[in-house]
Amino acid sequence: MKLLLTLLAELWRSTRGLLAAALVTLSGLLPQISPALPAPPPAVADGSELTVRFLDVGQADAALLSCDGEHMLIDGGNKGDSRLIYRTLEQLGIRWLTLVVGTHAHEDHIGGLPGALSFAEAGQVLCPVTDYDSEAFRDFARLAELKGGGLIVPSVGDEYALGGATVRILGLNAGEDTNDSSILLKVTHGEISFLFTGDAERAAEQAVLDSGAELAATVLKVGHHGSETSTSYPFLRAVMPQVAVISVGEDNSYDHPHEQPLSRLEDAGCRIFRTDHDGTVVCRSDGRVLTVETGDGSSLTVGEAGEAGEAAAGEEGSGEPSAPEAAPQSASAEEGEPSDAAPPEEELPPQERFLLNTRTKKFHRMDCAGADAISVANRGEFFGNRTDLVALGYEPCGSCKP
Ligand SMILES: [Zn+2]
Ligand SMILES: [Zn+2]
Repeated sequence: MKLLLTLLAELWRSTRGLLAAALVTLSGLLPQISPALPAPPPAVADGSELTVRFLDVGQADAALLSCDGEHMLIDGGNKGDSRLIYRTLEQLGIRWLTLVVGTHAHEDHIGGLPGALSFAEAGQVLCPVTDYDSEAFRDFARLAELKGGGLIVPSVGDEYALGGATVRILGLNAGEDTNDSSILLKVTHGEISFLFTGDAERAAEQAVLDSGAELAATVLKVGHHGSETSTSYPFLRAVMPQVAVISVGEDNSYDHPHEQPLSRLEDAGCRIFRTDHDGTVVCRSDGRVLTVETGDGSSLTVGEAGEAGEAAAGEEGSGEPSAPEAAPQSASAEEGEPSDAAPPEEELPPQERFLLNTRTKKFHRMDCAGADAISVANRGEFFGNRTDLVALGYEPCGSCKP
């Protein structure tokens, strides 16, 4: 079924206060209504385009952002998604990631990032912590060290450029709970913006509200896979997203997404996309208009009336549904756009665990007989493929021949 809906930015702006008021009534909270409208964001250059792919990684999070030839990865799914992340970058020919963000240390967020860092190098790798007691995190930290200069804990207010878009850190490490350590960040592209919250729960939402950060965003990556512990009314009232994306696995054991946040999002007039139903969700922004495409050919356009809106309406009028796919492909069929059908497995160099001698720069099979001789201080491990190790200046051990 082809679904198309066009919302006018002007209409949105004028109804914003009313929606906020409705939320206040519903939540029975402070009668403080009509949040101040944000200052007009800087316009983006003609032709600038931001694409945000919310990858379908099941009960986990992963979003790949591309803007004017620069790329950024926010989370990488579970350990088992390493290959999918690797393949996605390979298909797109992305060998350089300007930024990689592990929103927090849980495996369903950082587990697949070694896959990304096995294929690509990164300018900076951000995480709220540099240490966490899990094998998945140690793999991530090691790859970050080898391919991205090591883990960096950012500060609130830090800004990074991604082509014509700006990435701003709004909050992190808001509580003892690992989920509340999540990096909250906003990506702004002209009038369109995306708020990423990792698994932030109420404590982190309240902390970023208290900080006075400008939270309003066009698209909200819903916190913690749609758990009822996230997406509180006060937070939602500040964000007032038009589109909500929930990254969640079908029939997951947590029963995510929970009903309460879904109904809060509906109350806010949000159009909800979920990766368990929609597959990979692709958002495109030209700085004024946002288009959302899903695997079943559904699309949604949000933004100003005019060319983009009419073009989208014309598309609907043609009555030709897009072919159903595992994940959407760009209608404009750009060069290098990935086919979301999985490529044959043999295209992938195998990823495995190697033992390293960081002093002699030799790498070994994990069961190499000579490995006992490596002192603890020089001993390291690497999960990835051997070509990367060779590229990093490591030589294979002559006896175990890894
Ligand atoms: Zn999670
Ligand atoms: Zn988590």
